[in-house]
Amino acid sequence: YSGKKTSINLLDSIHNLKVKDFHSGPVVVPETMTVYDAICFMFSEDVGTLFVVDKNEFLTGVLSRKDLLRTSIGTQDLNKIPVHIIMTRMPNISYCERSDSLVVAANKLIEREVDSLPVVEPQEGGLTIVGRLTKTTITRAFLSLAQNV
Ligand code: ADP
Repeated sequence: YSGKKTSINLLDSIHNLKVKDFHSGPVVVPETMTVYDAICFMFSEDVGTLFVVDKNEFLTGVLSRKDLLRTSIGTQDLNKIPVHIIMTRMPNISYCERSDSLVVAANKLIEREVDSLPVVEPQEGGLTIVGRLTKTTITRAFLSLAQNV
């Protein structure tokens, strides 16, 4: 094996990694959920980001840990604020699709400086959420490369 051949194979393997082979399941909340309930749900689901959907189940927003923390240090009643007031909303959301390459998705995480992307399927009228892609997903893919070459 020449070193060059090995590195070309590795580069091929990296670019062949697909979102669909590594992403985790979607964790979704309705826009009307209160901030208090969203905090409880984030703990019970053991995730760092929640995706928000409207009544048609279309993606409308993203809630991060810091979004919830920022609201919690204010004086508002967390039981009275719905998450749609504090979420980051469409169209300002970075997302990916199952068929995307993991390199493209990883680049979005870095460019936007976020921890996760919703994995979506475009429908007429909006995007439905089929999974989530996080920094952990990328770490898992990195490990799979180390174990296969
Ligand atoms: P944290 O705020 O807990 O550090 P992030 O770095 O993921 O977590 O989020 C930073 C900000 O970017 C938050 O306000 C969050 O709502 C928003 N955000 C998170 N993920 C996305 C995304 N995929 N697209 C657009 N905005 C996002």
